[in-house]
Amino acid sequence: MYKIKAMKKNIVSSFDVDHRTLDAGLYLRSVYTINEEYQVRSWDLRFRAPMAHAPLGSGEVHTIEHLMAYYLRLDEKIGSSIVSFCPMGCKTGFYLSTMQNVEAEDVREALAKVYKQVFPLKSASDIVGLNEIQCGNPGLYAIDSTNAAMAEYMRTLFTADEAAERGIASVYEKWW
Ligand SMILES: [Zn+2]
Repeated sequence: MYKIKAMKKNIVSSFDVDHRTLDAGLYLRSVYTINEEYQVRSWDLRFRAPMAHAPLGSGEVHTIEHLMAYYLRLDEKIGSSIVSFCPMGCKTGFYLSTMQNVEAEDVREALAKVYKQVFPLKSASDIVGLNEIQCGNPGLYAIDSTNAAMAEYMRTLFTADEAAERGIASVYEKWW
């Protein structure tokens, strides 16, 4: 395990992870080569430390999936390089797949922008695509606990000063 940016919080590159010692954070998990041509990076957005923290609830996972899958693709810098955004079955985080030009810092900044734009959620109408036409289970969502989970993850990725610089100081000021 080596750090991409030693001064940043919980951003490391790791291809061989022992989940017993894995902290919440943002990790470059693997790089896949598709058709011997395209390289795809798989990012591990680990919201909860496996075994040490309770996993996310199903409503939180589903809500975050809808919002991130939509809003990350609108990001000016990395949006067009996103392949997929998927929840982990163990409910401790999400996988973001991108093309090879996306760096950890780009992902971190994009997450801060989505947070600033979308959170905290006020009601189900803030959750894009949550309807019977676009979703397999639109009744499955959570508002307050998703707000708490997202704020907690932002605190994992940003110090209080860094959060303030990005206009998301509320993740430290208000504790859900
Ligand atoms: Zn859905």
